[in-house]
Amino acid sequence: MAFFTPDDYVSSVACIEPASLVEQGFSIVLLDIDNTLVPRDTRRLPDEVRDWVFCLKAQGLRVCLLSNNWHKTVFEHAEALDVPIVYKAMKPLPFAYQKALDVLSCQKGEKVVCVGDQIITDVLGAHLCGLSVILVEPQAQKDLWYTLLFRRFERLLLRDRKPRL
Ligand SMILES: [Mg+2]
Repeated sequence: MAFFTPDDYVSSVACIEPASLVEQGFSIVLLDIDNTLVPRDTRRLPDEVRDWVFCLKAQGLRVCLLSNNWHKTVFEHAEALDVPIVYKAMKPLPFAYQKALDVLSCQKGEKVVCVGDQIITDVLGAHLCGLSVILVEPQAQKDLWYTLLFRRFERLLLRDRKPRL
């Protein structure tokens, strides 16, 4: 089940210390949007999340949004955060991951960490590409109907794990 096991599990992105990512040798961060950065119920980008993304960049980390979504709001979030976006990503397929790494001019040997709220897309996709991944607890209960179905399976996989606060 290693492909479904995140490297870390947190209750929100604010629990991920940007400086600690740098200390761990990461230089690139690929971020999911829906229910990772932006709760599905409000669709608003919280100020603390925006500040966190700016902290990542201030630490010298290169950031790209990687989302299966392609609606107008994801482009607005990318603009607000001043980061590139790869949309319609079809995670867990690997193609969009490679595209995001190309956008950030990722060099061989650079360490990449992905951050997302779904095991079936974000965790599996990152591991299929050989990348590290931090799972974030979904930021809202509301989600797409098929995502809610997958969440049942995800709860089984996570039964013994609690998110870091
Ligand atoms: Mg998501």
